[in-house]
Amino acid sequence: MLNDLRYRFAKFMQGRYGVDSLSRFLSVILFAVIVIGMFVKIPLSGLITLALLIILYWRMFSKNIAKRYAENQKFLQLKEKFLGNFSNVGSNMSQFKDYHIYKCPSCSQKIRIPRGKGHIMVRCPRCGFEFHKKS
Ligand SMILES: [Zn+2]
Repeated sequence: MLNDLRYRFAKFMQGRYGVDSLSRFLSVILFAVIVIGMFVKIPLSGLITLALLIILYWRMFSKNIAKRYAENQKFLQLKEKFLGNFSNVGSNMSQFKDYHIYKCPSCSQKIRIPRGKGHIMVRCPRCGFEFHKKS
């Protein structure tokens, strides 16, 4: 009986798209909306849940595989872009930790100087102005 069901399901899923990264992402959002909705009132949470469910199932059982695949690729690109920006923020933060950013008093050029060097003479790379700084 169970095997029969499994077989029928497998047959039903034949030539259909199935689950991809975008679907997994959407189901995480769906789950988050449901869980957060238990504690906080989310406006239109019922509608959002329903819409997400419909999109999820519609994509999973879709037979237009090329189109679903293209959607997923687009999603992955966006994700890459977002995560890329995110890691850039991280490296900027570590720059602040290891370097002082000074402004040249003469031309306002920003100059990056490593921390912990004591008193140093800074020479502006743009206008050649020299000034003392403690790093
Ligand atoms: Zn300068």
